[in-house]
Amino acid sequence: MAQPTQIFNFSAGPAVLPREVLQQAAAEMLDWHGSGMSVMEMSHRGPEFISIYQQAESDLRELLAVPPNYRILFMQGGGLAQNAIIPLNLVGCCPQPATIDFIHTGSWSGKSIKEAKRYANVNVAASSEANGFNGVPPQESWRLTSHAAYLHICTNETIDGVEYDFVPDIGPRTPIVADMSSHILSRAIDVSKYGVIFAGAQKNIGPAGLTLVIVREDLLEDALPICPSAFHWKTVAEHDSMFNTPPTYAIYIAGLVFAHLKKQGGVAAMEQRNIEKARLLYEALDADDFYQNRVAPAYRSRMNVPFFLRDESLNDKFLAGAKARGLLQLKGHKSVGGMRASIYNAMPLEGVQALVDYLNEFAGR
Ligand SMILES: *Cc1c(COP(=O)(O)O)cnc(C)c1O
Repeated sequence: MAQPTQIFNFSAGPAVLPREVLQQAAAEMLDWHGSGMSVMEMSHRGPEFISIYQQAESDLRELLAVPPNYRILFMQGGGLAQNAIIPLNLVGCCPQPATIDFIHTGSWSGKSIKEAKRYANVNVAASSEANGFNGVPPQESWRLTSHAAYLHICTNETIDGVEYDFVPDIGPRTPIVADMSSHILSRAIDVSKYGVIFAGAQKNIGPAGLTLVIVREDLLEDALPICPSAFHWKTVAEHDSMFNTPPTYAIYIAGLVFAHLKKQGGVAAMEQRNIEKARLLYEALDADDFYQNRVAPAYRSRMNVPFFLRDESLNDKFLAGAKARGLLQLKGHKSVGGMRASIYNAMPLEGVQALVDYLNEFAGR
């Protein structure tokens, strides 16, 4: 078969970036705006990089309507490092050992639970594990602690394909910490409902190596004394994310993505496109029982769509045929098997349509 003319990359992360962003980065690679330097070669304290940083920060603030009493931190270490950094920064609020409430909805909240146990008592207030992580347990069933340091949720489970369709309402005393790594900027959110939002960049923002943390200012006072300085949110905030050298090139690319999102109409416009993309794909998977997605419809992720072939002996053939058509990285996570199509902001509607055409063709429809 001839080389496919167009490639669509369904990787869960690191994932597809907008083509225009990569083209601009390529054009600016050797000489950023007449500075004579690549962004990679600039001092993070020089005026050129400071302007890149400030523009990225203010564009993100605008895109997510981040209220003024929240700080935006550009950190490193990924989502997994935050699983330790968060308790180190928050459990100092309470007599030790503090308790953290968790909702267990899949692999990523599971990892967060495991790590938090090193720093605090963990109360799993609800879990969908017995149901194969097919949704979010209804809030009425949660057994929350009255004096938890915080409640941790993963609002989009990247591996299991489960996304919250509601914001928990647990009163003002306990802050909600939300892992939004794989759906930040894909839909409108009300930042003021959360104490902390964090996200690794490599799903919907930019290159791996950058982690975003959005934290309400009053929560900067609750760190444990042993919290490492480079991971101490208050220290990082006081130094405008430059306590140590930040991941400068990743911040630059993230900034290009933010500017690109603004040009496309912002988060509201992305959300409309994402709804349409997800509708198309789930409709094709549901058309008959050739394919199967096991998540309850209300909690199906708009970003990560895991599915199984009824006849799993066809898996290799399915993947080879997809690759021949330029549909890449559709293999499911090793822990669940099957297939997974991640359709982040940067996946165009045409990419989803190409996948749907292939799903129909392969199923002999
Ligand atoms: C990818 C991901 C992470 C982990 O990110 P790393 O950068 O590999 O540490 C955490 N949470 C969610 C929901 C993710 O999708």
